[in-house]
Formats: sequence, C-alpha cells, structure tokens
Amino acid sequence: MKISIIGTGYVGLVSGVCFSEIGHDVSCVDIDTEKISQLSNGQCPIYEPGLSDMLRSNLDQGKLTFSNDLQKSMESAKVIYIAVGTPEKENGEADLHYVYAVAKEIGYFIREGQIVAIKSTVPVGTGKQVKAIIQEESGLNSIQVASNPEFLREGSAIYDMFHMDRVVFGVESEGAYRTLSELHQPFQTSEVVTNIESAEMIKYASNAFLAMKISFINEVANLCEVVGANVTKVAEGMGYDHRIGSAFLHAGVGYGGSCFPKDVKAMITIGEKAGYSLKILPEVDRVNMNQRTRMFYKIKQAFGDQSLKGKRIALLGLSFKPNTDDIRSAPSLDLIRLLKDDEADIICYDPIANNQMIKHIKNLTTVSSYMEALTNADALVLLTEWQEFKEINFKEVKRIMRCPVVIDGRNIFDPKVMEKLGFHYNSFGRRVVQRKGT
Ligand code: NAD
Repeated sequence: MKISIIGTGYVGLVSGVCFSEIGHDVSCVDIDTEKISQLSNGQCPIYEPGLSDMLRSNLDQGKLTFSNDLQKSMESAKVIYIAVGTPEKENGEADLHYVYAVAKEIGYFIREGQIVAIKSTVPVGTGKQVKAIIQEESGLNSIQVASNPEFLREGSAIYDMFHMDRVVFGVESEGAYRTLSELHQPFQTSEVVTNIESAEMIKYASNAFLAMKISFINEVANLCEVVGANVTKVAEGMGYDHRIGSAFLHAGVGYGGSCFPKDVKAMITIGEKAGYSLKILPEVDRVNMNQRTRMFYKIKQAFGDQSLKGKRIALLGLSFKPNTDDIRSAPSLDLIRLLKDDEADIICYDPIANNQMIKHIKNLTTVSSYMEALTNADALVLLTEWQEFKEINFKEVKRIMRCPVVIDGRNIFDPKVMEKLGFHYNSFGRRVVQRKGT
C-alpha cells in the first residue's frame, strides 16, 4: 500500500521505516530540510537500536523515500499519516499548531478516497477539528479522518512496532477501518476499533496510567525510607500479583521523556477545558517532579547538607532512559540546574546523549567515558540505567574517585556490595549505606 508520513521524528521515522520493512511503499515528508537530506543519504538523525540498518536497507530497495515535497508525497497515497510533534505549551496544554498547519496543507492537495490518520498524540476532539480544516481547505465533504495513536517506546521502538500489544483504530467508516487493518495486517496484532474520540482518549489514558504507576511506587519508596522497608522487595512482592504486574514499578528519580510529562499535563488540561477536574494526575506530576528535588538533597546529604560548591559531581546518564539520545524533560536537566545553582563542579557522561545535552546547556563539561568522569570525582550520581553502568567495576572506581559517594537514581546497584566496598550509597526507598565516619 502507498502511504505518506508527515513528520520524521521518533514516531514518524520509526513508523515509516517499519511500514516499508513489511512491504509498503512509504514516502516520508518533513519541513526540516537538513533532516531530509541526511535521511535521503541513509543517515539516521536519531539513536534508536536497529533503525539505521533497516532504514538503509529499505532506502536501497526503493521502498522508502524522503522529501520536503508534501504534494508529491501525498499524490498516490492511500493513507496519509500525521506524525508531527505536539509539545507542551506553558499552561500544560498540547500545542496543536503543527498538527493544524499540516491539516491545512493536506487540504490543498487531498483527493477523494484518501484517508488521513493521526498518529500524533492529540487531545480528544482534535480529529474532528483536523477533518473540519481539511474539508474547508479542500472543499471536499467526504474527507475520511482516523485516529491511530502510537504506543512505541523510544529505545525499543523497532521491537515494539513488530511486537505491538494492540493497534487502535478510531474510525468513522467501515472503509477506513478496512484500509488501516490491511495496512497493519503483517504485524498480526489485536485490534481495538472505536470512534475517534475514544482512540484519542486511549492514548492519554494509557500514558497517564503508566506515569501513575511510576509515581505510585515512588510514593511507596518515600514511605519505605521513613519506615525502614525496602521498595525493591515491596515492588517484587506486588509485581507477582497479575492484577498489578511488575512493569513500571521501579522506584527512582522519576519519569521524563517526550511523552509522559507532557501527556499527563495535557490530560489535566483536557479535563479542565471539558469541565471535569482530574484529581489523581496533578499529584502524579507533583510526585514525579519532587523525586528530582529529593535526588538533589540525597547528594547534599552525603556531604553533611553543606553547599556543593567546588565538589566534582559526576553525572552518569543524561538521556531520559537507556538506549535513546532523547533528553526531552529528562531528570538530568533539572539535576544539572540544581547542581549549577549550588555551584557544584559538574562533569557529565552519557554513552549517546552528550551532544544533545551540549546543544541545550552551554558550558557543560562532558567526557567520553564514565571512568574519565569519575576520576577525582566527589560523587557518582546515576540518572539513567544504561547497561554499561550496571557493569561498573566499583573496586576500580573507588581507587580513582576522590570521595567514595554513590547516589543511585535508578536503584541499580546493590547496597550490600556498596557497603562492603566502603561507599556512601543512597538510592530510593532502600536503606542508606553510610561510609564509616560520615
Ligand atoms: P519529534 O519532535 O521528534 O518529530 C516531529 C517532526 O515533525 C519533526 O521532524 C518536525 O520537523 C516535523 N514537522 C513539524 N511540522 C511539520 C510540517 N508542517 N510538515 C512536515 N513535518 C513537520 O516528535 P515525536 O517524538 O516523533 O512525536 C510525534 C508525536 O507522536 C507527538 O504527538 C508525540 O506525543 C507522539 N508520540 C511520541 C512517542 C515517542 O516516544 N517519541 C511515542 C508515542 C507517541
């Protein structure tokens, strides 16, 4: 099937590459000319495991093309996907101006029978609004708009596309459903077929629920710290219960990324606009942001709550989670700000995301290995659980650090090992290992 995908960010690009991999004829469009020229040359602008190879292979076979020309891309497409960003506005609302701008452009070129499917995460009612815009611009009354939200996770996006738990189609006609179902047929997944509003809501409710699970276990962790329980064991004990499940029960510095923070806030504003004030979600967000401050105070606590001025703090992990270079709303951004305000001497290392961070924060020191970051460091502060950090040799690390302090924002190290090696070790919801003499 011929499809056009508008927006080649994390979602548009991964979807485009995967749709071409299963045999469709995919044309991707973006307004970012530099990105398009990179992609046309087989260079992947983002880090996502497996994406580069699959991109090049489908490009070489002619099943995948990239351009800035929307009209050409849409020309013979059966389905036109909107996959542009919906970032957070200052008031928490989803910023829909990219979506509406694309809808207007689609309106200039759309032809009878083409289906416009919205993959971007958009508030309930946006699908109808997009339809109205396209109808007005095109003068056609029979425009077919559908909602087909995306659930992939950065860092395992290709895997997720080929092992999707379900696909959601919010449609207005049997014809639109049949076309979208045929398009997804090779993925062999369960289909949820509903109206556009419910499909839009499914995406927000899913993300908000997962964010709530994280904030819930973080609340439990904070309580564990006070009552002397161990949140790792608590989560294990809870997770065996199939009604609860073990996923997203990892206490730590909290969630970040381009989806959970903005989608939780957008859902709150959807409620406000519709006249229903959501009670749980504002707390989910508050608990999450509070974890970042708690992390900062755990660092300070290791130094007797004194100013961190002149302390060399090694931040390990900048991306919001492992296996991605995405730093949007990452906890590292807030930790860097707090540490800077306290005049700490920050040295950062991330296996992939150093460059992204340098683009965002001026005068930040980044190095190319964790050993370099830890040399003469006063504290190791772990923010992202990259695999290489799980394999750190702490005997060696202790030799090169100035001060044996480890603050673990993802609970990946073992307090017993840290104790044996003589580190001050603090994590979330578990006992603090005090260094002798501190
Ligand atoms: P992104 O910011 O990485 O990419 C958006 C792309 O759209 C950019 O390349 C931009 O240049 C392009 N664009 C903007 N206006 C355009 C226009 N008029 N014509 C053509 N291209 C245009 O965004 P993303 O992370 O891919 O997210 C896209 C949507 O998918 C968002 O609504 C997001 O919430 C949702 N989503 C994201 C993820 C994720 O993990 N990133 C997962 C599920 C859903």
